[in-house]
Amino acid sequence: MKMHVAGQWIDKPQKIEVLNPYDNSVIDTVPRGEAADVDRALESATRGARVMAALPGYERWKILKKAAEIMAARTEELGRLISMEEGKVIAEGRLEASRAAETITGSAEEAKRIHGETIPLDGAPGGAGKFGVTLRVPCGVVVAISPFNFPLNLVCHKVGPALAAGNAVVIKPATDTPLSALKLTEILLEAGLPAEGVQCLTGSGGEIGDALVADRRVRKITFTGSRDVGERICRLAGIKKVTMELGSNSPIIVMPDADLDKVAVAVAATGYANAGQVCISTQRVLTAGKVYGDFLDALTPRVAALTTGNQLDPKTKVGPMVREKDAVRVEEWVKEAVSTGARVVVGGERRGTIYAPTIVADVKPEMRISCDELFGPAVAVTPFNNIDEAIALANDTIYGLSAGIFTENLEWAMKFAREVQSGNLHINWGPQWRADLMPYGGLKESGFGKEGPRYAVEEMTELKMVVFHLSG
Ligand code: NAP
Repeated sequence: MKMHVAGQWIDKPQKIEVLNPYDNSVIDTVPRGEAADVDRALESATRGARVMAALPGYERWKILKKAAEIMAARTEELGRLISMEEGKVIAEGRLEASRAAETITGSAEEAKRIHGETIPLDGAPGGAGKFGVTLRVPCGVVVAISPFNFPLNLVCHKVGPALAAGNAVVIKPATDTPLSALKLTEILLEAGLPAEGVQCLTGSGGEIGDALVADRRVRKITFTGSRDVGERICRLAGIKKVTMELGSNSPIIVMPDADLDKVAVAVAATGYANAGQVCISTQRVLTAGKVYGDFLDALTPRVAALTTGNQLDPKTKVGPMVREKDAVRVEEWVKEAVSTGARVVVGGERRGTIYAPTIVADVKPEMRISCDELFGPAVAVTPFNNIDEAIALANDTIYGLSAGIFTENLEWAMKFAREVQSGNLHINWGPQWRADLMPYGGLKESGFGKEGPRYAVEEMTELKMVVFHLSG
């Protein structure tokens, strides 16, 4: 595919191959953008921002609604593309495609709800006779940098609210999975978006990222990806609005009164979807000592039943990881844990990009498989003695994106919700659950700012305060 810069689909002599992670076959190529393309894209986006800001909310609603309708009609094609370039199983690809259409629908609705409020200035000393009102205005040029693991829906979570709020957006998709974002760009243009309202720039983040995020023409950066890249972007961004959706090593707490079958179902679902490459995957299962053995017995057959293979085969439950080096990393971290006292209960083998769904028991908090973000299909099980210890273990991390607890005890559930330092908290389910309309984002080094169209529109706008100094 070509990239979309300055209102045109352009190619470059230098290409990047997009591979199917299952067999490394080439699906397509994209141009390798460079600094000059960043400059052209930002120049065009600056014009696009003026066009978008002048577009009435009703027109922005119509364009996004039309785009969502096209996406919904093409769910199968988009789902297959997601699955091919990313490696997630086809059922997950289809689900992502239909969620993405909903995210754009939700964003369209927000285009009609961007409002300010009146401020009762006469409540302040010296405020009598003044009339105050706030206005929400678009930021201008928004740069949206997205990760490989949800190549369509996470792009929609940025592009939808940015356009709904009247911004121009420059998308920088992940180099491993750029095709879904390019398709989305095609669809937005087909739906009537002004040509300079969206740019989609392909190329290596390491090569073009600095130029993109440091440029003063950019007023807002919305980034989803790893903690380290996020930190680099924050340092280079200077004085701009920034949203950071970063990584995690999300825990589940299994209390002694938990229904262990329910927990096993939840862990098998939330620890291994997309081969564990979900920012809110269950990574650490903190389990009450009293039920530790019974829980492992309940979980083991469920994980053993997760068949691996070609992601496009409907029988496959867990597909390949996005790159072989990531599967090798997971293999190394599991081996390292075993060499320091942990044990593999099931799984633990690698075949190319496929890492078998794995349970590692007797994990100590300081092992890398527990304290770093694993981002792979293995969960680490650790025993605890009481709820205070469980909460301390859950919080013993730089991250704070999502967490779950299984208990029937209301006091324990409420204590968990109050004391666990996490942006999303789930009672009687694992950390991996998201409705696209809810406020979503992390605490601590999992980032700041929220996604979910209503909340992201706030992040994509600036608030102005207007004061009328009335004489009467
Ligand atoms: P990544 O390596 O950080 O890459 C994310 C994006 O940043 C890619 O588009 C990448 O481009 C770009 N990039 C790389 N270096 C850059 C630089 N110096 N300046 C600007 N952009 C740069 O992350 P990933 O491997 O794609 O995704 C996995 C990570 O994302 C995990 O940590 C996961 O937890 C996190 N994540 C978080 C959420 C959330 O909502 N909190 C959701 C999904 C994923 P290239 O691909 O060209 O390198």
